[in-house]
Amino acid sequence: MSGESYPEIREEVRKMCANFSPEYWRDLDRRDEYPLDFVTTLTREGYLSALIPEEYGGSGLPLSAATVIMEEIQVAGCNSAACHAQMYIMGALLRHGNEEQKRKYLPEIASGALRLQAFGVTEPTSGTDTTSIKTFARREGGKYIVNGQKVWTSRAEYSDLMLLLARTTPHDQVEKRTDGLSVFILDMREARTNGMSISPIKTMMNHSTTEVFFEDVEIPAENLIGEEGKGFRYILSGMNAERILIGSECIGDAKWFIEKARNYANERIVFGRPIGQNQGVQFPIAKAYASMRAAELMVRDATQKYENCENCGAEANMAKMLAADASWEAANVCLQTHGGFGFAEEYDVERKFRETRLYQVAPISTNLILSFLAEHVLDLPRSF
Ligand SMILES: Cc1cc2nc3c(=O)[nH]c(=O)nc-3n(C[C@H](O)[C@H](O)[C@H](O)COP(=O)(O)OP(=O)(O)OC[C@H]3O[C@@H](n4cnc5c(N)ncnc54)[C@H](O)[C@@H]3O)c2cc1C
Repeated sequence: MSGESYPEIREEVRKMCANFSPEYWRDLDRRDEYPLDFVTTLTREGYLSALIPEEYGGSGLPLSAATVIMEEIQVAGCNSAACHAQMYIMGALLRHGNEEQKRKYLPEIASGALRLQAFGVTEPTSGTDTTSIKTFARREGGKYIVNGQKVWTSRAEYSDLMLLLARTTPHDQVEKRTDGLSVFILDMREARTNGMSISPIKTMMNHSTTEVFFEDVEIPAENLIGEEGKGFRYILSGMNAERILIGSECIGDAKWFIEKARNYANERIVFGRPIGQNQGVQFPIAKAYASMRAAELMVRDATQKYENCENCGAEANMAKMLAADASWEAANVCLQTHGGFGFAEEYDVERKFRETRLYQVAPISTNLILSFLAEHVLDLPRSF
C-alpha cells in the first residue's frame, strides 16, 4: 500500500505468518490460550532478538527493522502482543545492565532458551502514576526481599524472567518522586516456588495478562539493573522504543482492517451492486486510509529520530497516539462495512477489533500522551 522499507524482512515475515491461519488465532481466542507455536517460531527465526546486538547472539538490527517485523505480523492478521514486550524490555538490560548480566541473559534470550516477556510496572493502586508504586524491595546483605503486588503483568505465566520495577527507598525519604525506584531482573522460575504467585485476569481479548503477588520474594543483589534508586529513568529511557514499536503494530492493524474492508466492499452485493460503489461506504474507508498513512509518517519520523539518537519523546508519543487512533478508526470502519457479518467470529473482524482497542489505553493512555504534549511541547501549565 505504501513505499516499503526492508522488503526482504517484510517478505520473510509474511511467509512465516502465512503458516498461522485465521483459524489458529480464532481457536486460541476461543480458548484464551497463549500462541506458543507462533512465539516459538518467531523466536526460532530470530525475529524476537532483532534488537539484540550480534555479540550477544542477536541480529543487531536497528529499530526501523523491528518496526517492520511488528507491522507485518499485524498486517498478516497475527498478533504480536503475545511477545512484543521482549523487544523493548530487553533494552533496559542492554543499555543499563552490566557486562556480566548481559553475558548471562542476552544470548539465552536471543536463542529462545529464556523468555523475557514480563514487565512488572503497573500496580492496582498507582495506575498511571508510576512513581507512587508500593511494591518494595528491601536490601538484606547480598539480596533484596520483595513484597507487594503488580497488576496487568502480561505474559507472566509464559515468561522465565520479569523486568520488575520496585521501590527501594520509601516515598517520603526521597527528594524527587522519581527517585528511589529500582529495576531488577527477576527469575520467575525460582520465584514461583519462593513467594511469588500469579493469577490470570480474563479480558475482552486473548492477552494472557495477570496479577502477580510477591511475599518475601528474594532477588540476588547482582540482579539489580544499573544503580539502586535510578530505575525510573531506566524505564523511561525504554519508553520511546516501546511507543514506536506499538505504533507500528497499530499501523499493521490499520492496514489489515482497511484491506479487509476494501475486499468486502468490492465483493458484497446489495441492491444489485457492490456496497463499495456507495460513497457512504467508500469514503470512511478512504478516510481511514488517509489517517493510517499520516500516522505511518509520524511513526517513521519518530523511528528516524530515535535511530539518529535525537530526543524523540514527543514524536514517539504522537506516533503511538496517532497510530492507535488510526487502527481504531479503521477497526470501526471495517466492522461497519461488514454490517452484521462484522460481528461474526468467522470473519475475524470482531476479534481484531477487540485486540486493537487496547492501544487506546495501554501501554500508555491517550490522555497521558496529550498531557505530555501539552506540558512539555506546548509549555502549558502542569496539571498533575
Ligand atoms: C491488557 C492489558 C495489558 C497490560 N500489560 C501490562 C504489562 O505487561 N505491564 C505493565 O506494567 N502494565 C500493563 N498494562 C497496564 C497499562 O499500562 C495501564 O492499564 C495503563 O497505563 C493505564 O493505567 P490504569 O489502567 O491504572 O488506568 P488509570 O491510571 O487508573 O487511569 C484510568 C483512566 O483515567 C485517565 N487518567 C488518569 N489520570 C489522568 C490525568 N491526570 N489526566 C487525564 N486523564 C487521566 C487515564 O487516561 C485512563 O483513561 C496492561 C493493561 C492492559 C489492559
